[in-house]
Amino acid sequence: MPSLILDITYRSHLQQVTRRVNCHCKPARLMIVSPPMSRCTIMVTALLPLLLNAFTCQNAVADPQMLSLSGVALHYGMVPTVMPTGEWLLRSHTVCLKFEPESRRLVFNGILIWMHDAASQREGRLNISRIDAVSILDPLFRPDRVFVLSQPPTAVLDPGHGGADSGAVGSFTCEKNLTVAIASLVETELSSSGIQVFLTRTNDVSLSLKDRADFARNHKADVFISIHANWAENSNASGLETFLFPASSSSANSESSSGPAFDAANMILAYEIHRLILSETFAEDRGIKRARFDVLRNATCPAILVECGFLSNRAEENALADESYKRKIARGIAAGILSFLSNAGLLR
Ligand SMILES: [Zn+2]
Repeated sequence: MPSLILDITYRSHLQQVTRRVNCHCKPARLMIVSPPMSRCTIMVTALLPLLLNAFTCQNAVADPQMLSLSGVALHYGMVPTVMPTGEWLLRSHTVCLKFEPESRRLVFNGILIWMHDAASQREGRLNISRIDAVSILDPLFRPDRVFVLSQPPTAVLDPGHGGADSGAVGSFTCEKNLTVAIASLVETELSSSGIQVFLTRTNDVSLSLKDRADFARNHKADVFISIHANWAENSNASGLETFLFPASSSSANSESSSGPAFDAANMILAYEIHRLILSETFAEDRGIKRARFDVLRNATCPAILVECGFLSNRAEENALADESYKRKIARGIAAGILSFLSNAGLLR
């Protein structure tokens, strides 16, 4: 079981933590490491989602939705260091995280992730939101947490747009054709992997967002990957973006969604696919982002949407039209799915 050491500055807070642990964190073990004088240290052992409730008792953070990065880091056996640039670094033998005060940017092992909330620096401490600790850090630190997936696992690939809906249109390509081509290549990449793969469409037909979600549910998908290409007014914009739905208790998510069941899994799926496409294509990293896309809202399994590149950028359109570049993207998506399922313990 994971454990956490809390520094409690005032005895009243110790009582508060003790009460909360006893009420909400059973089965939990609470051990007073140093005597409960004016300042003491206690160790709490419990399941993390419950345990993080105890973080909020720390007096140093006035806003209960914000957690001290030092406290969170300690939970994973790390100690943050402040760089001369003002950035905060968390490093272990497997991970390196970089936070910027008053910014939503988090760089996790070289991959840009946009947090729900900006990290805030107060009185020499860096605080991050509870929802970012739970929905980003914990899934990436502990990707082997329990998943309930079918065996053999099933991946549904969703080529965006189709029929009358062309999606983004470049100078000589259109999104609806590109997405089918990439999805078909992903299917080929996964053909001998033991994963069942289904495509929501293989030809030029119209599908509603509901059709796509129903398709994934009917095929009992374990992962759902919606494949798109981007477009922007600024013809210089380029690179890869991967989207997941805002975590269920974040301020960015005021609407109902598929609920918290997939928050952690969505993050791992997005991270694995995003980083592995980048490692194949060396495209610009525009980051892992959150958006309330309808196709993700009602997903009945971990679901992400990947924007493979900009058709409004001539150089990137040329690359996307190239068969070998499409295959690189497909290899990245396939490897991301495999890595996600390995983390889930289904592929070893
Ligand atoms: Zn699209």
